[in-house]
Amino acid sequence: MIKQNSVVTMHYELKDSEGEVLDSSKGQDPLVYLHGAGNIIVGLEEQLLGKAVGDTVDAVVAPEKGYGMPVDALIQTVPKEAFGEEIDKVEVGMRFQAETEQGPVPVVVTAMDDATVTVDGNHPLAGKELHFHVSIAEIRDASAEEVEHGHVHGPGGHQH
Ligand code: ZN
Repeated sequence: MIKQNSVVTMHYELKDSEGEVLDSSKGQDPLVYLHGAGNIIVGLEEQLLGKAVGDTVDAVVAPEKGYGMPVDALIQTVPKEAFGEEIDKVEVGMRFQAETEQGPVPVVVTAMDDATVTVDGNHPLAGKELHFHVSIAEIRDASAEEVEHGHVHGPGGHQH
């Protein structure tokens, strides 16, 4: 059964509350994570505790235990001059890394007018209720080194 420091291999599909598929491991390698290490969102981790190989889990995760609620402070309107010559390439929907005092933050351009560009640094899934369908393929105990590092080693995990 899944417990603290289990290494879990699972297939998953993630939908929003309208049933639109946001992410899926279908046709790809399964997801491998270290349970209890914050590798996956807390709301999903909680609902996988105690599950066994072969179990399927339908987990609904509120934004508070998912990617959080959108924060206004992460939405900024900046003058076009701030982009220099790069401004010619900027368009609504574009994603890039913005340099901030806290380091690079992924943002998306949400609006533009004659003088300014509005960028949003919230996680794309912030504010969304997440609907996971998970099937548990494999469970093993983590090695001492994996526990120490806080992530899985080997196939599907960290390659040092
Ligand atoms: Zn490691």
